[in-house]
Amino acid sequence: MPDRERPSLPERADVVVIGGGQAGLACGYWLERQGVDYLILDDQSGPGGAWQSTWTSLRLFSPASFSSLPGRPMPAHPDTFPPVEHVLDYLADYEQRYRLTIARPVRVLDTTADDEAVRVRTDAGTIAARYVINATGTWRAPFVPQIEGQDRYRGRQLHSAHYRGPDDFAGERVAVVGGGNSGVQIAADLIQQASAVHLVSLTRLRYLPDDVDGRHLFKSATERIAGNAAEQENQLAGKIVAMPAVRDARERGALRLRAMFDRMTPEGAVIGRSQIEVDSIIWCTGYRPALRHLRSLKLRTKDGVPAVEGQRSVKDPRVAFVGYGDWTGPASATIIGVGRTAKAVVREISAELGHAEGG
Ligand code: FAD
Repeated sequence: MPDRERPSLPERADVVVIGGGQAGLACGYWLERQGVDYLILDDQSGPGGAWQSTWTSLRLFSPASFSSLPGRPMPAHPDTFPPVEHVLDYLADYEQRYRLTIARPVRVLDTTADDEAVRVRTDAGTIAARYVINATGTWRAPFVPQIEGQDRYRGRQLHSAHYRGPDDFAGERVAVVGGGNSGVQIAADLIQQASAVHLVSLTRLRYLPDDVDGRHLFKSATERIAGNAAEQENQLAGKIVAMPAVRDARERGALRLRAMFDRMTPEGAVIGRSQIEVDSIIWCTGYRPALRHLRSLKLRTKDGVPAVEGQRSVKDPRVAFVGYGDWTGPASATIIGVGRTAKAVVREISAELGHAEGG
């Protein structure tokens, strides 16, 4: 029985987009322009996707002018790197401005397919779709590595997906595990409030030059599309954008790096010959695509992601993926990059549905 609080859903739709974050909105924009019958399903109660759950000091790594979805530029912000609230305002305005059809909150529980339709089963009923575009991001599927002794550690452990700010760690000794952008930003965020911050990484920290930010990451993706990727790729892969707070912490010598844990203990961890004692461990160890709701379709390969051609599943091309990372198109997981992959997949699907080429 559908919950009374849930919106009522149609029995059928030509296209169901699962996920109403930036990737889902970009798909909605192009679907509107093509005049396709579509519906976006999102399990949050408000707009903004994962940006609603980040830590409060998070800032974009690109200026507003390099952080826009198709059609509507992100308004300028007085700070070079806009804060999360600016992104949330922008996404809320975006979906209203283009009158995107979004049902919230609706969670997709499972998806099955037969010759006639892809059946999207939700907590508000089932929709028979001709096509499904998945845009559920990665935030829902935080990844934590398995470390010997982890179950005996008595302190607090959380993933960066659940980190909200430094206040919760005042006076604590904290290990931040992960030498990527999230780890370095969270370590810098904690420095004023925690009594000790250990930044733990498998590799040494590799910063991009201080004048390089998200603009260059996007340029690199564009170059990859143009085919002259290798050099850009080598220069940028796995490197940290030196945001002002990170740069400041680095210049004060506050970001001290430690090698990865050999094993964990009830009080902390053993690293080589030394032992650290910590009250909390924050795992900044990345994400996996949030695709649990597709498990019945059995699309995943041994690499953990579905095999795709372009953005379409090889096993069932009625199912497509947008916004997860490079396997769904260069820079597809960024605000500015997702418009391009959304456009490509919507073009294909709307042509197959018999809509005239446009947009
Ligand atoms: P999401 O924003 O996660 O949206 C997916 C939506 O689908 C969510 O609302 C989710 O609740 C919903 N959903 C999931 N499963 C279901 C289901 N089964 N049924 C219904 N709904 C479901 N990108 C940039 O361009 N610039 C940056 O500066 C930048 N900084 C980043 C900083 C961090 C720390 C991280 C982790 C990412 C950053 N990104 C940045 C990358 C990217 O822009 C964000 O991760 C973005 O939120 C991804 O958007 P999305 O729409 O793909 O997914």
